[in-house]
Amino acid sequence: KPTKHGQDRRSDAMDTAELRNVSRYEYLQKRTDKKVKEMQDEVIDHEYLFQDVKLTDAEQRDHMRRKEIYELVKDRAKKHDDAGDYYRMPEAYDAAANVDQEKRFAVATRRYDDPDAARDGKKRSNFSEQEAWEEQQIRKSRLHFGSNDGGRAGDGYELVFDTAVDFVKSVVQAGADADGEMDELAEDLDMKVALQRELQDERKNLPVYQLKDDLLKAIEEYQVLIIVGETGSGKTTQIPQYLHEAGYTAKGKKIACTQPRRVAAMSVAARVAQEMGVKLGHEVGYSIRFEDCTSEKTVIKYMTDGMLLREFLGEPDLASYSVVIVDEAHERTLSTDILFGLVKDIVRFRPDVKLLISSATLNAEKFSDFFDEAPIFKIPGRRYKVDILYTKAPEANYIKAAVGTILQLHLTEPAGDILLFLTGQEEIETVEETLKEAMRGLGSKMPELVICPIYANLPTELQAKIFEPAPEGARKVVLATNIAETSLTIDGIKYVIDPGFCKIKSYNPRTGMESLLRAPISKASADQRAGRSGRTGPGKCYRLFTEFNFRNDLDDDTVPEIQRSNLANVVLRLKALGINDLVNFDFMDPPASESLLKALEELFALGALNRRGELTKTGRRMAEFPLDPMLSKAIVASEKYKCSEEVITIAAMLSAGNAVFYRPKDKQVHADTAKQAFHVGDVGDHVALLNLYNAWKETGYSPQWCRENFVQSRTMKRARDVRDQLEALLERVEIEPCSGAGDLIAIRKAFTAGYFRNAARRQKDGSYRAVKSHQMVFVHPSSGMAQVLPPWVVYHELVETTKEYMRQVTELKPEWLVEIAPHYYQHKD
Ligand code: ADP
Ligand code: MG
Repeated sequence: KPTKHGQDRRSDAMDTAELRNVSRYEYLQKRTDKKVKEMQDEVIDHEYLFQDVKLTDAEQRDHMRRKEIYELVKDRAKKHDDAGDYYRMPEAYDAAANVDQEKRFAVATRRYDDPDAARDGKKRSNFSEQEAWEEQQIRKSRLHFGSNDGGRAGDGYELVFDTAVDFVKSVVQAGADADGEMDELAEDLDMKVALQRELQDERKNLPVYQLKDDLLKAIEEYQVLIIVGETGSGKTTQIPQYLHEAGYTAKGKKIACTQPRRVAAMSVAARVAQEMGVKLGHEVGYSIRFEDCTSEKTVIKYMTDGMLLREFLGEPDLASYSVVIVDEAHERTLSTDILFGLVKDIVRFRPDVKLLISSATLNAEKFSDFFDEAPIFKIPGRRYKVDILYTKAPEANYIKAAVGTILQLHLTEPAGDILLFLTGQEEIETVEETLKEAMRGLGSKMPELVICPIYANLPTELQAKIFEPAPEGARKVVLATNIAETSLTIDGIKYVIDPGFCKIKSYNPRTGMESLLRAPISKASADQRAGRSGRTGPGKCYRLFTEFNFRNDLDDDTVPEIQRSNLANVVLRLKALGINDLVNFDFMDPPASESLLKALEELFALGALNRRGELTKTGRRMAEFPLDPMLSKAIVASEKYKCSEEVITIAAMLSAGNAVFYRPKDKQVHADTAKQAFHVGDVGDHVALLNLYNAWKETGYSPQWCRENFVQSRTMKRARDVRDQLEALLERVEIEPCSGAGDLIAIRKAFTAGYFRNAARRQKDGSYRAVKSHQMVFVHPSSGMAQVLPPWVVYHELVETTKEYMRQVTELKPEWLVEIAPHYYQHKD
C-alpha cells in the first residue's frame, strides 16, 4: 500500500514536473540559442568594427574581454544543454540516480585513479578547499544513492524518490540560475556593445577626427603647438586619446590635461574612461583639490590647472609627463596664466616633452607670440547659423525674465533643448524652484520639462544628468553657470538664454579686498554662449539685454583673472618653487605691480616672508596647504594656540562648500532652530561649524543625524575627507595634532592670526566698517551672528549680492589685533 501510494505520487509528481520543466527547458533552450547566436554576431561585428583601425591596448583588451564573455556564455549554454539531456532520460529514477551518479562523478573518480596524482602527494594536497568539499559531497551522495546497503533497498524507496525529485529540481534550478546569470551577462554586454559602438561612431564624427593624422604629425614635429577649435570639436576628450594611441604614454609617461574647473575635469575624465572602456581612475583619471581619482595605471590625467601648479612643488620638471595640455587656455584663469610661465620654462630644458595649448577662441596669435611663435593648428569650426534676439528694453529682473522666456519657448518653439546661463548655485536653485512651480501651475497638458542644473558643487551623480537626452516628447532645460560656456559641451541645445552676467572675482589692490561680484560678461563671452545653440543645427540665442547694451556696455574681452585677483596665494606658491624674482617672471599679461606689492605685503604681514622677501619657515609650512594663505596661516598658528585639531576641523568645514544646511520650505522654523543649536555662546560661525562637525562625529558620522538636523550629509562627508587630508599635511609640516579642549578663545585667536585683515567694527546703524578699508559691510543673513551683531568681528569672506556681506563671522576682541598682528595694527590710522 505505502509503496503503491508512493508510486502514484511519484508518477503524478513526475508528470507535472516534467511538463513544467521540459517546457521551461525548451523555452530556456531557445532563448539560449538565440543569445549565443547574437553574441557570436556581436563578437564578429566588433571584430569588423575595428578591422580598419589599429586597436589601442585598451580596445584590444576590451575586445578580448568580449570574446571571453562570449566563450563563457557558450560554455554555460553547453552545460545547460547537458542538463537538458540529462533531464530527457528520466525512464527510471532509481537507475537514473545510479547512472547519473556514475556519469556525473566520473571525472572526480578519475582524478583519484590518476596514477600521477596518486604518486604525487604534493599535487593532491594542492586540491583546493572547493575540491575537498566536492569530494566530500560525492562521498555523501554515494552513500545516499548507494544500492549496496541491500537492507534499505525496499523501504528506502521513498528516500530515493524524494532525493531524485530534488535532484531534478536542482539541475533545472542550476540551469535557470545559469540562464539568469547568462541573461544578465548578455544584457550587460548588449548594452555595452551598443553603447561602445555608438561612442565609437560619435568619436569619428567629431571635427578633430578628420585631422587626427595631421595633428599627430604636427605634434611630432613641433614641441609647442597652439590648438584652436570651436567648443565641442573634440579637443579635450579626443586629443589625449590620440596621443595615448600614438604611444606617448609608453615608458610609464603620462599625459596631463588641465581644466580651469573641477566639474569639467571630473566629467571629461568620466567620459574618456567610458570611451576607452576602462574604469575611471584606472587608465584615465582626474585630480582636483582634495580629490585624487588616479592610480598607478593612470596614463591620461585630467586635472585642474591649480593641481598641476601644485605638482610643480614635488616635481619641478614634471618629469612624469610626456605631454602637457593646457586646455581652455582662453579662460586665462590665474593658475593657467602662471602655468604658462612655468611650462614655457620647462620646454626649454626638456626637449622630450610636448606642450599643447588648446583654446576655444580667437586670440590664438597671442598664445603663439608668447610661446616663441609656436605654430597654430586650427580645427575648422562647425557652427550653424544662430539667430540673436535682444530684449526691446532692459530687464529689471533677469531671473524673472529668464523663467518667462523658458516657459514661452517651451510652449511656442519646436523641439530642442534650452540652456540658460546663470551666475551661481543660488540663482540656479531659485530658477529651478520657480520653474517647477510654474510647471505645476500649468497642469498636465504641458509637455514635460526636464530641469538639469549644473554648477561646481553639484554632487557627482547628478552632474552626468545634463548629458542624458530628454525622454521622448520632453524638453530639457539646462541651468548652468559659466561652465557651459566652453568647458562642457552639451549636445542637443537649440536655444540659449543669456542674461549677460557671470560671477567674477574682483580685487581692489588699494584696499586689498577681494570679492566675488556679479558682473556683465564680455562680448567674447556673449558670442561663445550664443554659439552653444548652433552646434548640431541652427539655433537661437535670447539675450536678456538690449542690443544697445551689447554694443556700448560690454567689454570686448574678459580681463584675465591675474589682473583682478589677490595674488598672495600665487606669490606664495612661486616663492615656494624658488622663484623669487616675480617682477621678471614671464607673465603673458603681467599683473599690476601694485597687486604684486600688495601680495608681498600681505604675505609679510602673515609672517610668510621676511623683510628681504624670502620665504620663512611659516611661509614654507603655509605653502604645503592647498588653501588660501589666510586659512593656511590659521592652521600654522594653531600650533602656538594648541588647538590644531579644532582649527583643521573648521578649515575643512570652510573648504567643503557653502551648502552645510538646507531649509525645506515647509520646515524653515525647524531648520533654523536646529542650526541655531550649534551656536553655543554666540561667539561665532567658526565655532558653530566646529560644534556641528563634532556632534556629527559623535553620532558615528550618521547620515540619519544629518537629516534630523537639516544638515547636508554630502557636505559633511566631504568635510571629513578634507579634514583627513589636512591632518596628513599637519604631519608633513610637523605640527603636533593637539586639542584645545574647548578653549574657544585659543581657537578664535588662531583664526584671527590668519584673518586679522578681515576685521570689522560695528556702527550705530548695525552695519560694519572694515577696519582697514573703511568699506561698509554687513553680516550675512545666513550667519548665526546676524542677530547678535557683536561690536567687533573677524570674517572669512565677503560676498556681494545686494550688499557687501561678510560670510562666516566670529566675535573678536579688539586687543587681540594688536597682540596677534602688531606690525599690521600698531600704527592704526
Ligand atoms: P572640446 O574640448 O573641443 O570643446 P570635447 O572634447 O569636450 O570638445 O567634446 C567632444 C564631444 O564629447 C561633445 O560632443 C560632447 O558632447 C561630448 N562629451 C564631452 N564630455 C561628455 C560627457 N561627460 N558626457 C557625454 N558627452 C560628453
Ligand atoms: Mg574642451
